[in-house]
Amino acid sequence: MSAERPATPAAPAARARSIGILGGGQLGRMLVHEAQAMGYRAVVLDPDPSAPAGQAADRLLCAAYDDPAAASEMAALCAAVTTEFENVPAAVLQSLADRCVVSPAAAAVRICQHRALEKAHFGRSGVPCAPHARIESAADLQAVADELLPGVLKTSQLGYDGKGQRRVADRAALAEAWQALGRSPCLLEALLPIRCELSVLVARGADGACVHLPVQQNLHRDGILAVTQVPAPDVDAATAAEAARMARELAVTMDYVGVLCVEFFVLQDGRLLANEMAPRPHNSGHYSIDACDLSQFGLQLRTLLGLPLAMPRQHSAAVMLNLLGDLWFAADAAGGAAVATPREPDWPAVLALPGVHLHLYGKAEPRRGRKMGHLTVTAASAAAARATALQAAQRLGLPPF
Ligand code: ADP
Ligand code: MG
Repeated sequence: MSAERPATPAAPAARARSIGILGGGQLGRMLVHEAQAMGYRAVVLDPDPSAPAGQAADRLLCAAYDDPAAASEMAALCAAVTTEFENVPAAVLQSLADRCVVSPAAAAVRICQHRALEKAHFGRSGVPCAPHARIESAADLQAVADELLPGVLKTSQLGYDGKGQRRVADRAALAEAWQALGRSPCLLEALLPIRCELSVLVARGADGACVHLPVQQNLHRDGILAVTQVPAPDVDAATAAEAARMARELAVTMDYVGVLCVEFFVLQDGRLLANEMAPRPHNSGHYSIDACDLSQFGLQLRTLLGLPLAMPRQHSAAVMLNLLGDLWFAADAAGGAAVATPREPDWPAVLALPGVHLHLYGKAEPRRGRKMGHLTVTAASAAAARATALQAAQRLGLPPF
């Protein structure tokens, strides 16, 4: 295992043409592809020997994220290091920053890792968000204001894809939910009347240059992103422009370098509220690989390497469908509850449709709710992309949207 050897520095020219990625998931894999297309080498750090990005990387350092020997080896091999997942220990980024270019910075990642710090950053930046309160003690629980109920109780850290959160109708349910979440530090948000959900990906360079991708409209099922449509069908131009402005503002006020995703809610009354941020490319930006002339991964690479940022142009309307592990299990004859018979989804049926781009992440084991891949449909118009995506969904056995 490489982390057991002392780090041998790469020749400076080779080191300058190598990027390091903390985390070996699909976001890292797509960044590896982008880096290699531009002639860079990619070194991935992940404890899983079969991690999706590790399969594609020039070199996999198979070790824990906080293994100091592995971090040293990465610093010796790579001039620039980024992270592909949010919960990399911020201290690791901090320690690497003495030895190589690191973006995003540990301080920004720390904010995005913690829902309360994130909400405070929204406030500091003048960006509205849901009414909320920290729940960290029994006294906090007692002091909850009536207007926060019904609400959503979320663990302050390590939540994703709807995990670590509970909807609560009243005080009794709130107390129960906090107990169920292990009385860990939580944030209670008022349950919002949501019309639709948006996200914006911003890229900001070390020189302060800032560009963004078009505003995306996202549909979640069971707390997991299911469908992204761009252009956003239910959003007027003024709201889209305001979301992009807020996302850029949030990057500027963190002095952020890298790709930042900001999720928003549009309420029934039209108000726009920030939901959460991710300090990296995002599932909702995957369509940009096939529908834009500069993708979120291209932007990530450019911000990391200090290369110029051009404003991306969307050349095709796009609909992205997430492919979760559930698709790998056949439904029973009645089409009801799925039984555990593994099968391969019918890829030829969807590839027969025009403008279909299939991305699979190389995960050997399908599991329910696990992101196995995605499919982007591109077309000359939003209506055509949607029509084809609905056909693709039907052929795969996904619900309509
Ligand atoms: P995660 O980190 O799991 O993505 P989010 O905070 O984005 O956590 O919540 C996941 C989903 O739950 C959101 O996309 C939205 O559909 C729903 N949700 C979250 N917070 C609220 C809220 N305050 N009111 C109503 N729905 C919410
Ligand atoms: Mg979210």
